[in-house]
Amino acid sequence: MQVVAQIAAMQRLARKWQHAGLRIAFVPTMGFLHPGHVSLILRARRAVGVGGKVVVSIYVNPTQFGPKEDFTRYPRDLKGDLQMCREAGADTVFTPDDQAMYPGKGEGLYSTFVVEEKLTQSMEGASRPSHFRGVTTVVAKLLHCVLPDVAVFGQKDFQQAAVIRRMTADLNFPVKIIVAPTLREPDGLAMSSRNKYLAGDQRRQATVLWRSLQAARAAVQGGSPVKAVRLLEQLKKLIAAEPEVRLDYLEFFNPDSLEPVSLVVPGTQAALAVFVGSTRLIDNMRL
Ligand code: AMP
Repeated sequence: MQVVAQIAAMQRLARKWQHAGLRIAFVPTMGFLHPGHVSLILRARRAVGVGGKVVVSIYVNPTQFGPKEDFTRYPRDLKGDLQMCREAGADTVFTPDDQAMYPGKGEGLYSTFVVEEKLTQSMEGASRPSHFRGVTTVVAKLLHCVLPDVAVFGQKDFQQAAVIRRMTADLNFPVKIIVAPTLREPDGLAMSSRNKYLAGDQRRQATVLWRSLQAARAAVQGGSPVKAVRLLEQLKKLIAAEPEVRLDYLEFFNPDSLEPVSLVVPGTQAALAVFVGSTRLIDNMRL
């Protein structure tokens, strides 16, 4: 497995593979890898086969963090990450740094961003105003570095996957987007690099994301529509029962348009974000 830090070197390698007729699958990450990331690497391998090339990027992208968010303390463990990538069968790990990705940014010498204007207006976009501008920009840049045929994203970040799908379609990126299922801990908590922040009883309280989604699913499983406002009130009570958990948003929406629905039925998507202490966690589910 190779580790490549320079953008020009990554592009040269990708071009070489393309000339040799090899397919490239790409998994972008911010590192501190867990089995959820590994499942995406395995999915990437499945997409291009043993003869193809699987590239994982590890880059904590500063432009997708707000000024009061956890950029500087985001967990990092390059050595452990490289080991996991090797074991998962990645061919190349791309590890650019801020100087390579945003040269001269501090001095006002970087000024181009990619913005999706519709799907980013709600949920994560509403709570974290500059977040998706950073995500679409860095993913567009990474796609230009790795030149993949397919790129794999996690359902865990449902809105992000929808935004990336839209961006690559709108801007004619020649890449197929695959969205892979969310890997969970045995008690239902979605695996996340940020779970590391949970201290003491917070870890147990954090299962309220999963419990809320399960309760929502149970409410609509009979098949008859349930009013979104009613279901929201029910789930807010569940969340309020956890002393260290504060709800950021909880939405029921159409999984394609991301438009909110007033009646919740099987097939409606539910997504929520909560703070557990100062740790912000998200989850979502097709009901
Ligand atoms: P991150 O390192 O958090 O930026 O995530 C990198 C990719 O891994 C994104 O496409 C995420 O949606 C995906 N991912 C994160 N957590 C999980 C999980 N528990 N299961 C599957 N994919 C995940």
